[in-house]
This record gives sequence, C-alpha cells and structure tokens, in this order.
Amino acid sequence: MAVASTSLACPQYSGLRRSCCPKLDTCSLSISTTQSFFQNVHSHLRLSSSPHKACRAVVTMAGSGKFFVGGNWKCSGTKESISKLVTDLNSAKLESDVDVVVAPPFIYIDQVKNSLTDRIEISAQNCWIGKGGAFTGEISGEQLKDIGCKWVILGHSERRHIIGEDDEFIGKKAAYALGQGLGVIACIGELLQEREEGKTFDVCFKQLKAFAESVPSWDNVVIAYEPVWAIGTGKVATPQQAQEVHLAVRDWLSKNVSAEVASKTRVIYGGSVNGSNCADLATQEDIDGFLVGGASLKGPEFATIVNSVTSKKVAA
Ligand code: PEP
Repeated sequence: MAVASTSLACPQYSGLRRSCCPKLDTCSLSISTTQSFFQNVHSHLRLSSSPHKACRAVVTMAGSGKFFVGGNWKCSGTKESISKLVTDLNSAKLESDVDVVVAPPFIYIDQVKNSLTDRIEISAQNCWIGKGGAFTGEISGEQLKDIGCKWVILGHSERRHIIGEDDEFIGKKAAYALGQGLGVIACIGELLQEREEGKTFDVCFKQLKAFAESVPSWDNVVIAYEPVWAIGTGKVATPQQAQEVHLAVRDWLSKNVSAEVASKTRVIYGGSVNGSNCADLATQEDIDGFLVGGASLKGPEFATIVNSVTSKKVAA
C-alpha cells in the first residue's frame, strides 16, 4: 500500500530564519505524540484502495481532505469579461477529484451563478459580521446563501492590511458565516517584515487561534496560507517554504484542536500561484490545493491549476 512519506520529527524551518525550535509547538511534541499524530493522519489518507480510483493512488497528501482550488477574482472584471471567463470555465476539462470554487465580486455573483456550470461552486470574497440590517454597504451571510453562494473568503490579507480588519472581527465573521451554512476559506499569512524577523509561525498561529476561538466546528473551514509578500507580487513561495508552514499549521491544529481536525482540514496555499508553478507546489504533501488571484482570471490557466492535483498521483 502506498503511504505518504512524512518527516515531521523536528523540521528545520530553514526558510523562516528561526534559529531554534523551543517556541514552536511542533518541536515540543514528543516523538511518541508525533508518531501517533501521523498514525492517525495515515489512517485518514485516501489511498489506492478507494473504489473510485482503479489504478491511481494519492501518495503525497498528508491530510485526508479533497484537493481544493479557489479563484479569487477580487475587484476585477466587467459583465463582458466575466461572461468570457465563465464560458472558458464551462468548457474546461477539470479533474473530478477536486473541489473547485470561484469568488466573483459581489455584484457579479448572480450573473455567474446563472451562467456557470454547477461543477464549480461560488464563494463571496467577504461578508458582514452578523445578521443583515442597517449596515450600509455590507452583505450578510444570509444574503450570500440566498443568492446561491456556498463559500466565503474571510481574513484575506487585503482586508486585514488595507481595510484594517483584525483577528477578532474576522473570527466572529467566520463563526456567523458557518452558522448560516456557508463554508469559510480562512486566510492567514505573514508580512515580509514578519517573515524576515522570524515571526512567521507566531503570526500564523495567532491568526489561527482567533479562528479557533470563534468557530464552533472546523468541518466547513478551509485554511488558506497566503504569505502577504507573495500575493500579487509574482514572488511565489518555494514549495519548501509553503510546505513547512502548512506542516506547522497542521501540527498547530493537532495540538490545539484535535488530530482529526488536523487531518481533515484542507490547508491550501495562495500567493502568485500560476499554471507554471502549481505542479511543483502540489507535490508537497501538506499542500491540499490553492487560492489563486490573478491567474484565476484566465480560464485555461485556472483549469491547469485545478488539474495540478495529478501531481499528487502516481500509477499504482
Ligand atoms: C489572493 O488574492 O488570494 C492571491 C493569492 O492572489 P495572487 O494569486 O494574485 O497572488
């Protein structure tokens, strides 16, 4: 039986300029705790025994969740350009074992919902913290459900650092959205300066903690690790840089939530992912998919990114 290789014991975290491990939860795990975590993780792996995959096996996936690719269209597009993008997406051939989601601007959600194939689900890019009412300019979770959204992106770095949303506010939004039956794409990630100061884990864990303190359950949460320095800059994290944070996120979940949540929760990477770099990133065992900005505005390229799930597979 093919099994994902794992190398947790005490990762070097080489790209993060952290010279020693003691502050990191991961490294304070005893070997036996670590082993039992991975035994648990392995027990959830999707392997070649799956009846749906006659001759292929997923061998590089530490988590047990399905590959997930989201397209964040941000504040881009017109009725015309979105119509073309939808046409391209409708005709794209997408691997079946991937959850695919796109997040149009609010005002185009209805247009997209009415023209996009059901194969692709729709996300909003934000929502109000609670029930709708006298909150000018806001959109509530109830309204997103009403219009056919399945997901909402929360905690995106552009909302944290440009609009000024803080951890607590974002956590409350996540809890309310989940309560309305929306899935949450929960974004975390460090600024360049924070990475250079060796604070990557501190920042990501603090952001994770705020989600953990608010959400009633992780069942409908996908975590998007998006280093801010990589978003929209063309400077993608290396597969190793992304993998080491994803692994640390999974360890944090194991230690602070549960081993089951650590295994089941998808941890996707975002930040300058494109059709050329997605395959290498996807080979990393703790990368369960992508959140894609710029490259999601090109249908064929987005399809290539969705289909990078094949990098996780080998012939059995
Ligand atoms: C994003 O906005 O979530 C994102 C990852 O953007 P880009 O792919 O353009 O870096």
